Amino acid sequence: MGLFDKVKAVGKEIGIGLNAQEQYQRAYEKGVLLQPPDYSAATKHFAKASEMFLQEGDEDMARLAKANAALYELIDKRNLNTLREVIRALEPITEVPCIGSQDEMMQTSLLIAELRSLQCEERAKQCGNYADMTQEYMEAAEGFMKLGYAPLHISERLKLDGPVEKAILRAFYCEGLSDYYSALSVVLSSPVQAHDQMQKAASCFRQAMVTDWSKTVDDYIAKVSSKSHCWMCGREMQGEDVFFKYYPAETEEYHSQLLESSNEDLRMIDNTGHVTVCTVCGSAIENQADRYATMRADEVRAWADQLFQQTNEVLMNHSERLRSLERVAHRH
Ligand SMILES: [Zn+2]
Repeated sequence: MGLFDKVKAVGKEIGIGLNAQEQYQRAYEKGVLLQPPDYSAATKHFAKASEMFLQEGDEDMARLAKANAALYELIDKRNLNTLREVIRALEPITEVPCIGSQDEMMQTSLLIAELRSLQCEERAKQCGNYADMTQEYMEAAEGFMKLGYAPLHISERLKLDGPVEKAILRAFYCEGLSDYYSALSVVLSSPVQAHDQMQKAASCFRQAMVTDWSKTVDDYIAKVSSKSHCWMCGREMQGEDVFFKYYPAETEEYHSQLLESSNEDLRMIDNTGHVTVCTVCGSAIENQADRYATMRADEVRAWADQLFQQTNEVLMNHSERLRSLERVAHRH
């Protein structure tokens, strides 16, 4: 091998003097197919290959390389705010290599459907009000549902919460979240409706096999369906911690007998040392107690300020007398 060829060979090894196809191949060899893979390097090589294909006039390959760069950057950085750009890079092509492989291909339409649903989930997390979250999660669920029993291609790589392997399971998971937030959005106007929505959520989470959410929802159902009368105003309320709460109070056996003999609601004192009060009565008492506490604190502050003022005057007086004594002493 002549010197020139040797230099060329070394150059290629470190990535100089490659043509577009070789640059594209490099993204696999020095990135995707490494053990462990280096997706950051793969992203850079694909992006460079895309530019080079464009210079060589091969637009199809330029698009493919660009789509790969977008996909591997998404997996590498896991920045879900870039989903829109990734989808845009995938849209012009019909097939891309499966993630982690060079030869096995997948249809981009399936991948785009998955990414669109993830985009809805992302919007749900960012929109901050229950009604919109309900809507976005429902849209995500519908997208995943259309994919049916197909495996998901990218969700697992993004380390997302919830099921990431099968589209159908993630569909149930998103539907459960949609029902859950729908319950939260209606609970203040109708705990009965919230209860119904939570039961739907519970059934979805069971189908999705997400036990932590199942437990959260079951706990909520137990509370939102419970009822008790208010000890103060006597009204029946539904929804513990929403429309009634247990307040610390002195209750004795006598009170149970009293309620029993007058056929009243024993649930008001079913928690020892507590009594149920509706949130209207409870908040009125709390607000009034707060007002008294603030008034008392202001009184104490006024009293203390006066006391400090007096002490201060005494100290000033003392230091003045000390100074005049010092002046007398210096003159002698
Ligand atoms: Zn009340």
